[in-house]
Amino acid sequence: MHEELLQKEKLAVIGQMSTAIGHEIRNPLSSLKGFIQLQRESYPNTNDFYPIMIEEVDRINSIVSDLMDLGKPRVITFEKSNIEEIIAYTTSITQQQAQGKGVTIETITEEPLPPIYCDEKQLKQVFINLIKNAIEAMSEGGRIKIKLKTILGQKLYVAIEDEGCGIPEENIPNLVEPFFTTKKEGTGLGLMVSNQIIKDHKGVLNIKSISEKGTTVEILLPLQQSKAFF
Ligand code: ADP
Ligand code: MG
Repeated sequence: MHEELLQKEKLAVIGQMSTAIGHEIRNPLSSLKGFIQLQRESYPNTNDFYPIMIEEVDRINSIVSDLMDLGKPRVITFEKSNIEEIIAYTTSITQQQAQGKGVTIETITEEPLPPIYCDEKQLKQVFINLIKNAIEAMSEGGRIKIKLKTILGQKLYVAIEDEGCGIPEENIPNLVEPFFTTKKEGTGLGLMVSNQIIKDHKGVLNIKSISEKGTTVEILLPLQQSKAFF
């Protein structure tokens, strides 16, 4: 519990700093984007790099937004939801990235699933983060399996299994730390935010991995308990 409080305080400080710096970065960034767009309209067909320039500015913007989000208290709005629809939505969002890397995504539902009470937007964010990580781990293509079932009618179990590079054992304790990344262009925020969202739902996120073989991220969410919030 003490650890958790410390983690929360650490995030709050990072969040406050990021919010302050973020505002300062956003203003010049939006004028930069404006000028790129203006330039593109004034001199079309002279520069193939306009779309890339705009995309990259947008990417900085979204990193800054993620950082600024750390400081905000996240309000959860529980609503009655269908987990299969949430998963279908997230796989459709990530489909293009998967296809580009020769990765297929398969959802396996072992039984009819009851509704869950959750913040849909936030759970979508969790699954997008996890599926993106899985895709990014598979440089030579392969299969991602998303398994769904209930446990004793009490919990919803979701597992995301990939056949990617795996995670060295010594990295496992750092995965949910802010800014831990092994990627050249990573932010190291995806798992931290996802873990926090699952905890806010009174659930558990667990990561198992075998180097070179693949990774399984398991999520357990209470079916009954969350109804109390509704
Ligand atoms: P980012 O994706 O920006 O690096 P994350 O918090 O999403 O940040 O992930 C942190 C790190 O955990 C990654 O850089 C990677 O080393 C490791 N990781 C997460 N998911 C996987 C996975 N499915 N397979 C292999 N490594 C992973
Ligand atoms: Mg990530």
